Amino acid sequence: MRSERHTKEGGASAAETRLEGLAVSPGIAIGPAYIVEAGAVPVPEYSILAAETVAEQERLHTAMAASVKQIDKLKVKAQGLPDAAAEELTLLLDAHRSILSGSRLIRGAERRIAVDKVNAALAVQQEINEITRQFTAMDDAYLAGRAQDVREVGARLIRNLTEEKFRAFSDVTPGSIILAEDITPADTALMDPERIAGFATVLGGPQGHTAIMARSLGLPAVLGVPGLLPVLEPGQTVIVDGLEGTVVVAPDKATLTKYRARQASHADDRKRLAKLTNVAPRTRDGALIGLHVNLESPREVEAARQLGADSVGLLRTEFLFMNRADLPSEDEQFEALAQVVAGMDGQPVTIRTLDVGGDKLASALGRYFTEAPNPALGLRAIRLSLRDKPLLNTQLAAILRAAALGPVRVLLPMITGAGQIRAVRKAMGVVARRLRNKGVTLPDALPPIGAMIEIPAAALHAPALADCADFFALGTNDLVMYTLAIDRGDDQVAPMYDPLHPAVLKLVAHSVDAAEQAGIPISVCGEIAGDPRFTALLLGLGVRDLSMSPGSLLSIKQRLMGLDLATAADRAKLVLAQHDPGRIAALVDDFNEIA
Ligand code: PEP
Ligand code: MG
Repeated sequence: MRSERHTKEGGASAAETRLEGLAVSPGIAIGPAYIVEAGAVPVPEYSILAAETVAEQERLHTAMAASVKQIDKLKVKAQGLPDAAAEELTLLLDAHRSILSGSRLIRGAERRIAVDKVNAALAVQQEINEITRQFTAMDDAYLAGRAQDVREVGARLIRNLTEEKFRAFSDVTPGSIILAEDITPADTALMDPERIAGFATVLGGPQGHTAIMARSLGLPAVLGVPGLLPVLEPGQTVIVDGLEGTVVVAPDKATLTKYRARQASHADDRKRLAKLTNVAPRTRDGALIGLHVNLESPREVEAARQLGADSVGLLRTEFLFMNRADLPSEDEQFEALAQVVAGMDGQPVTIRTLDVGGDKLASALGRYFTEAPNPALGLRAIRLSLRDKPLLNTQLAAILRAAALGPVRVLLPMITGAGQIRAVRKAMGVVARRLRNKGVTLPDALPPIGAMIEIPAAALHAPALADCADFFALGTNDLVMYTLAIDRGDDQVAPMYDPLHPAVLKLVAHSVDAAEQAGIPISVCGEIAGDPRFTALLLGLGVRDLSMSPGSLLSIKQRLMGLDLATAADRAKLVLAQHDPGRIAALVDDFNEIA
């Protein structure tokens, strides 16, 4: 675990600092800083055989390469800061980078692996201890600074060697704001909104899974904030404004008063929206729109029900595989799915098969990803399920058993061809026969099987996929990423991640038409379904079902209740006829202002 500079209420009386980042999860959090930094990583200690020294040194070199990459990313991020701060941080990062190329730390660690036959992480730790002991003994301020650099670089190396990630945040002072270089989706899933007020990180993009997880937990969050960590002291008051994308460190009195007022007005807005809970989601011209929820885990079921969601439009099953070193058994998966199906009390639940890969990693399946040259294009999602049959069959068995408790649909991620859908249908038939032979109760009709349309090939090929899929779910998060070749989780290219790009809109329109022609349902479950900016356009393009984080449902209901379908369709036609992304954005925003 690497959380060292912990909270201490009150904090120093430093000058107020404002930093800008990406607003990824709405709300305003004010609280003491809990800084997650590269310190105190638990170091595994073991001996290695003489024959293993070359491989162990190789591991050290791989961790060095990963560390250099991380530092380079932070350097690019630093360019977003004002000149003086950018220069200072760049100098520091350059110093860290040079430690990683053949310095005493590295040479010493290599020697310890070869001579003392110890594992790489221990070799690095022992070398850090030795260097800092010598530097400290010299009682020189410059060397003390270098010793700190060595410690920080060493901790980064050890973290990369042990793949130790942040964990649980179980010891944080209630109401704290988590501040870190980066937070994985798996670690975000461990955040308890009862204890944590919000978070901000240096890295991360608006549509990555860390951002999605923050929205689903209702935690205000700002990602991609350059220069965040150097200005912080533990326990200092921090404001995270997830509406505007601002982080204020050590706010002065006037700023605090202003943000407390904004916090209260946001809470009032939420209260006003809550009045729409039992109102039917109809457009002005009377069309009933399906509003569904995307769930990240069973703990959100109660919220979904209270909101009156029509169904669970997307249950991401990755939660079953995160934060553990082994794979969940069929029974364990069944228990969790049953909780959701029974909890929805007769409302359908769309269960998506495992979609790990990219930024969503599962340790127990790590062997499939560590070597992938490009994980976003690698053996992930349905490709992995079809390769690892026990993985798929176990999941299908759990889903089928849960389907006995209420209506269930099965959704397949990253589909590119009809053959993948047929293969799953066949596997489901075999698993169902096996279960029935064992006397397990299953529904008479097996669950419908749907395809995520989230790869350009699937959208272009939608008419053929519609022949063998029972429904479509448009995953615009990945569709935008793969169409524009812009990583959804990378803050460096975040401004170019554009769901309104004409190529994306054509793919959306084509998929909606294909579903309509084939007479199968289609919903949108990417993040734009929960963003009121896109509601009119999606309805205008013919979408009638939207699935989103529970926290967005009422604002989308409010938006669609002010819309007229026929006018939205006319406007969508104008938008589709446009080729210029800037013009499209203006058309969409204009329309949103008047309707
Ligand atoms: C999507 O890609 O739009 C989607 C809903 O799936 P995920 O965000 O889980 O990749
Ligand atoms: Mg996706």
